[in-house]
This record gives sequence, structure tokens and C-alpha cells, in this order.
Amino acid sequence: MPDLKTALTGELRQRQTRSLYRYRRVLEGPQGAEVQIGGRRILAFCSNDYLGLANHPAIRTAFMQGVQKYGVGSGAAHLVTGHSRAHHALEEALAVFVGRPRALLFSTGYSANLGVISALIGRQDAVFEDRLNHASLLDGGLLAGARFKRYRHRDCQSLEVALTATKARRKLVVTDGVFSMDGTLAPLPALAAVADRFDAWLMVDDAHGLGVLGEKGRGSVAHFGLEMAQVPILVGTLGKALGTFGAFVAGEEALIETLIQQARTYIYTTAPPSAVAVATLASLRLIETESWRRDKLTRLIAQFRQGAAQLGLRLMDSPTPIQPLLVGDAGAAVKLSERLLARGILVTAIRPPTVPEGSARLRITLTVAHSEAQVARLLEALAHVL
Ligand code: PMP
Repeated sequence: MPDLKTALTGELRQRQTRSLYRYRRVLEGPQGAEVQIGGRRILAFCSNDYLGLANHPAIRTAFMQGVQKYGVGSGAAHLVTGHSRAHHALEEALAVFVGRPRALLFSTGYSANLGVISALIGRQDAVFEDRLNHASLLDGGLLAGARFKRYRHRDCQSLEVALTATKARRKLVVTDGVFSMDGTLAPLPALAAVADRFDAWLMVDDAHGLGVLGEKGRGSVAHFGLEMAQVPILVGTLGKALGTFGAFVAGEEALIETLIQQARTYIYTTAPPSAVAVATLASLRLIETESWRRDKLTRLIAQFRQGAAQLGLRLMDSPTPIQPLLVGDAGAAVKLSERLLARGILVTAIRPPTVPEGSARLRITLTVAHSEAQVARLLEALAHVL
């Protein structure tokens, strides 16, 4: 057996030659339309801060007030002594926001998805997931130890076939509300109808719909006018449109109490800092009251799609701020991203295994922090590099 260094170095080199090596960029300041990297100000189109709230003055102030009141660390897990009045108030506000009896905070969306799926199903059960679900949902399905079936992307018939074939005790259907690398919506009404027909539970991860879609930004479930009975398990994340950090699960009292008893990623982890909860409460208020943010986003999306169509670019069927440009080859996607960077524009290349083989892309995201002039600059740069 080769030693650790030799084995890993070989793998890393392979990654490099296949254009699959992942690099980090070091930001010297906050999120925004422009970011500071290596002394340069760069126009960025790749954050998930869709509503431009990650550096909002009111949310910054709330965060600092939260630190004044609660300090920095929460000191323990929620079930030990880490659960504060601020966490509790945020859970209540999130439940009201999405119109459900209860909500439960998790430290991250990744851990929420692992915890929820593995708390609800086990060996005698089956989980059905869209092929292109987020990694955390797929990992949760694998961790649960249930029969794990991936159905074809956004394909209810494929789901039906899989459900027909199962004799499992419990059946859990899991989907992204908005697919994170495509920006497209899951066919939630049709999925809910199939789940209902087969007595399966539907779980929606609305990481990219919350704050952006639906009345007052209540998300993709609200966008489609679905009730809790149709989507009994709803996951939302706080690190994207809400501009802060963390995640929550919302649903029935019995669901939330079960998660408190059984979700290992809830029980065995330190509660997030209370100041984050205070900041998120401020963010939630802005999201509900400032509908102009969603209106502006809609205008920017339309501007970008129109401009891209005029350039003959291949866009996906996305009504959301996620507007990927399909490239195909990983190396070509990386080159385009580098050429854009040379023109002062940051768009990351997304490659396999994050997306299927042969579908590398530039994942362009628009945010309320962008101006129309900046979107025009992006289009101009794309015209040059393509
Ligand atoms: N679900 C989806 C659909 C996501 O895109 C992400 C983040 N990329 C997550 C869950 C994980 O959320 P978090 O970043 O809070 O761990």
C-alpha cells in the first residue's frame, strides 16, 4: 500500500488533469454585487445572497445587538443548555412565516437534511429521491439505511413506477423545491398528488425558493399554493436569501417533537450562536415587508434572460435568480470562468460530480444587490468570452 502522501497526491493530480480540481478564493470583505479579492474589486455573480441581505445594515445591527445580549458561542447543544430565547423566538417566527404549527432550527441545511431523513425512516422503509437532489438529501437517504431509489429528474411517472414496486412500511419522497444548480422548479403539485396516491410523505428542501418565490417570499410550496397536508415536511435554509446562517424544518407538532427526540444532527451538535437567530429575525421582517426586493429580482432576471437570448446563449427553464449557462465540458467551463475573471467578473464553473457528467456550467446567480448596469456588464462580458 502506498503511503498517505503518495496516494493522495496521485489522486489530486488526476483531478487537476481532468479540470475537476476545486479552488477557494479568499474574500477580503463582505458579500455584495462586488467583492474584494486579492486587492481587486470584482463583480460577482455567484452568491446565494439573492435578496442582498448578507450585509444589510439592519441585520448587521441586529447581529451585533445579539452578541451584546447573548455573547458569541451558544455553549452547548439545544437539548443541554444551548437553546436561547432568541432561538425560540426565531422558531416561532419561522413557523408563522411558512404557515405551520412548529419549526425547529438546525445548524446547517446539510445537517438538517441528514437528520430529518434518517430520523423518519429506517431499514423497513424506502426513500425516493429526484436524481438531481442536493447532495445533503442524497446523503441523508443513504444514511437512513432504507431502500434508496432515485427517480428521473422532475419525472412523476418515474416516481410512480418506483412507488408501485415497493412494499416498504414507510415511503418518503424527497425533492429540492428549486434545483440548486439549474434554478428550475420541482413539479410540486404533481409530486404531491403522486405521494398522496401512494400514501407516501413528501419532503421539500426549499433552500433556494425561500425568500424568493411565493407571496411574501414564503417559498416554492406557497408559490404552488400547496398545503401542509400535501407537503408535511418542509426544510428551509437561512444562509441564502435570508442572508444569515443555519436552517429549519417546519411542520406538525408531532414531526418537530420526533426530530427533537431522534434527529442525531440536531441532538449531538452545538446550537448556532444566538446572535445569528437575532439577525435572522431582523432579516425575516425585511423579507416580509420589502416586496420591492422580489420585484427588482424579477426585473433583473428578465433583463438577463432577454439579453442572453439575444446573444443566442443556452439557458435553462429557470424563473429564479439561478441562471446557469450550460457549457458541457469541465475544462471549457473553467476556461470561460477564467476569461470572465480576467474581465473583472466572477462566476464559478460548476463541474461533476456536483452536476452530471458532460453538463458543466457557469452557475450565474443574480441578486438584489446588482444594478441593471452591472447585469448589462455581465452580458457584455459573456458576449466577448463566448
Ligand atoms: N439544500 C440545498 C438545496 C442547498 O443548495 C444547500 C446549500 N448549497 C443545502 C441544502 C445546504 O444548506 P447549508 O449551506 O445551510 O448547509
